[in-house]
Amino acid sequence: MTDLISARWIFPVDTDPIENGTIEIQDGLITAVHSRSIPEARNLGNVAILPALINPHVHLEFSDLKEPISPSLPFTDWIRSVIRFRNQENRSIPEAIQKGSLESSQSGSALLGEIVTTDFLDESYTGTTAVESVSKILFREIIGLQPDQHHDCLSLATDFLEHSIFQTENHLSSGISPHAPYSVHWDLYEDLTSLAERKHVPLAIHLAETRSELELLTSQTGEFRKMLEDFGIWFESLFRKNQKPMDYLKQLEKVENALVIHGNYLDDDELNFLASHSNMTLVYCPRTHSYFQHDSHPWKEVINRGGRVALGTDGKSSNPDLELWKEVQFLSRLKHSYSANNLLKLVTLNPAIALGKENEWGSLSVGKKARFFFVKLPDSGSSEIDSLLFHQENEVFPEPGC
Ligand SMILES: [Zn+2]
Repeated sequence: MTDLISARWIFPVDTDPIENGTIEIQDGLITAVHSRSIPEARNLGNVAILPALINPHVHLEFSDLKEPISPSLPFTDWIRSVIRFRNQENRSIPEAIQKGSLESSQSGSALLGEIVTTDFLDESYTGTTAVESVSKILFREIIGLQPDQHHDCLSLATDFLEHSIFQTENHLSSGISPHAPYSVHWDLYEDLTSLAERKHVPLAIHLAETRSELELLTSQTGEFRKMLEDFGIWFESLFRKNQKPMDYLKQLEKVENALVIHGNYLDDDELNFLASHSNMTLVYCPRTHSYFQHDSHPWKEVINRGGRVALGTDGKSSNPDLELWKEVQFLSRLKHSYSANNLLKLVTLNPAIALGKENEWGSLSVGKKARFFFVKLPDSGSSEIDSLLFHQENEVFPEPGC
């Protein structure tokens, strides 16, 4: 059966916005996008139809938090608090994950790049329609700084990629996430990037997130060293000397899809390198970035140099909610010269490409999934869609009937 929906605005995203267009849908796929309104179509009125949002970086395990974990500074104090929170015994991680899936779907995200630390995949990611309506790339997080953890960590990653759930559940696929340079030994990092290359899966790493991470890599001093000493896991040759985020970026050249999470303190050469590699995406989490009070983020530099940027929410351990639309609204209020359509790419097409799912997701084009996000536009006389789309008061909804 063919379904027709029309509205005041349609944003295919990969082409210019269409005023008074119609989308044709059959069996859950888009079969045509018409640049005119068709009388038989269900007309949604003064609404913009966008592709469903795609959140490339989230940690659903923290979705039971009511507010971000504090203190946010210094960063290693935040990490210590996160570890304490993770070790609480009275929490159900599968329940937190299911809660986060629901919050994501209700706020319009239909595909997530989810960082996984649990072994309970079935309980966490299957079982209810609401949870399964959100497709996910599950990135197994690997933390292993000690040389004697190398073998077990590599086995964990390899076994995860072969988990039967990825054969039985269409809405799930796999990836790997070496957590960060300060929590994964260099030798293990090299092997994990090789594994991602061999298995053709995406890889995500938190990189150049803080100045203290750079200090640890270059001179093995600062708050990270202190934290590792306190944990009793520091020894002199734990890190190679004089390393930079560039060393980590170069390893990513061989990976099909690499997500560089944060990249707050990448230098000019590193931004150029990232921007000139089409397999790499810089993932910027605007409200999390603001929570940690970082220097201004280099997202515009990457776009202006021809690179790819996508927006993520990160987890509720550093963000008040999982509403990706609020991230792009946040960005729309910063100083920039991008059109609404170009900002929309950061939450639709770019994360789809980053996750290797652009054949199915990320734009309203023929053959892609008929999954949408709707924005009710203000009833002003203005037809300036660029200035209307991201209004704070606009009502948004993931289903046309809402
Ligand atoms: Zn993260």
